[in-house]
Amino acid sequence: MAGMELTLSDIQRLPKTDLHVHLDGSLRLSTMLELAEEQGVQLPADTPEGLRKALHCGEKAGSLVDTTLKVLQTAEALYRVAHELSEDAAAENVRYMEVRYSPMLHTRGGLRLTTVVEAVLAGLWDAQKDYGVVGNAIVCGILRHSEHLA
Ligand SMILES: [Zn+2]
Repeated sequence: MAGMELTLSDIQRLPKTDLHVHLDGSLRLSTMLELAEEQGVQLPADTPEGLRKALHCGEKAGSLVDTTLKVLQTAEALYRVAHELSEDAAAENVRYMEVRYSPMLHTRGGLRLTTVVEAVLAGLWDAQKDYGVVGNAIVCGILRHSEHLA
């Protein structure tokens, strides 16, 4: 039907929800690199392009998350990535978002579980004021934690 076809830009403008987005799978490559530098963490590459390749070529499906978790062990980093995730969602006209993550995977640096949860919520709530994206968190517990990491 002439004139009725949706273009990519029409789709980009449509309001959306994202009901299942992984906090630790959604970092900007540039942010991963900045956090790694700030924290003195070694990543598989030191440029966005190198990191993109390294993460795509990982042998295990878990390699992206294994890498992102390394830089997500501080409250500041968790706040930042939650806030940036909302900013990126706003750019795609997402109006409502549910962000899932497992607090117990963010305690390697000694953070308390409650601190992890509070940092992510603070990032989402501040982003709601800044970008208008309503964000909630899905907090995942992991049974048999050590086996699940494989
Ligand atoms: Zn999932």
